[in-house]
Amino acid sequence: MGDELRWAVEAVGLAGRVCKWVQQHPMGVGRVEKVDGSPVTVGDFAAQAVVARVLAERLGVGLAMVSEEDSAFLRQEAGGGTLRRVVEVLRQSGVWIDATGEGVIGAIDRGAGKRVPGPTRVGERHGAFWTLDPIDGTKGFVRGQQFAVCLAKVVDAQPRVAAVACPNLCADAARGVEVVAEDAGIVVAAEEGSERGVWCVVPGGEQAEVWAWTWVKREMLKDDDVSRLVRSGERGHSDRAGMERIIEGMGRVKVDQEADGQCKYAMVALGRADLYLRVPPRTGYRENVWDHAPGVMLVRRAGCVATDIRGRELEFDGVKLERTNGIIAGEPGTHARALRAAMELGIRGAD
Ligand code: AMP
Ligand code: MG
Repeated sequence: MGDELRWAVEAVGLAGRVCKWVQQHPMGVGRVEKVDGSPVTVGDFAAQAVVARVLAERLGVGLAMVSEEDSAFLRQEAGGGTLRRVVEVLRQSGVWIDATGEGVIGAIDRGAGKRVPGPTRVGERHGAFWTLDPIDGTKGFVRGQQFAVCLAKVVDAQPRVAAVACPNLCADAARGVEVVAEDAGIVVAAEEGSERGVWCVVPGGEQAEVWAWTWVKREMLKDDDVSRLVRSGERGHSDRAGMERIIEGMGRVKVDQEADGQCKYAMVALGRADLYLRVPPRTGYRENVWDHAPGVMLVRRAGCVATDIRGRELEFDGVKLERTNGIIAGEPGTHARALRAAMELGIRGAD
């Protein structure tokens, strides 16, 4: 495997460790509301600081990042208490034992960017950048359930390297998504290459060099098999009624798994689910690049297919996915059935 993949796995694995520590400790997740009403926690800031710090150390200068958080709130007077807690959890979790307020703000801002760079090479339409969601599924994180730390390197509008830490997903597939065990935690990762498959890494032990890496090739379904669907745990994030109609139209679908954030993509890539369906809500909401580029890379490398709800190619050329709407990500046969049902039912999402 390449250096960038190893660094990405190390970065999200360590960030996931801090987040899990926060989730398990009584000092609490410290939820605050952002201007857009979405929640952000001590965990989000700590995770972004860790990922940016690891990547900046490994990659040196020239770290172009597009990510969900920045340090604006932590710099305000109102954010002082939160910043102190971020420093505290980084130290106490052992992930960054000599963290300081200044160091944390510096790291968060190394990784803070809201602009996709332009092309630097002939033949490219867009530049290269890393994209990060420090805690994807913040609401699941606050509920004490699934969440993910998601990182991808995007080159010319497509992900080429991805690592998704799911600190509450068990390495043993027999323990389902609803089990949140103390010893849970995996990182699912992939890079460009010819062979189909993804890495499933158990980030146990202090040093990333000793983490256990397993190569996983997911099985595809046979003609009569029932497809297992996984969907968002948040009702307000998608059009549930539209989703029910597609499921009914498809036939042979079992709906029993819910997970927050890009754990859903990880589950499809590992063969623990066959379909992740995201019918866009009627609010005109546009998806963020950091909410999908990492996960899409995983399912593609596993031999699965990801498009929008109309079957259009996903292009990661901006902070928002402006020309596509919703997601169908699945095992090829299941993806085709879901897309056909959506088209027949005229479920297209907003233009
Ligand atoms: P999920 O757990 O799959 O719903 O994914 C969580 C992501 O949903 C968050 O990171 C948000 O970017 C995104 N999200 C937040 N609010 C909305 C909304 N109103 N509609 C659709 N997606 C949203
Ligand atoms: Mg997110």
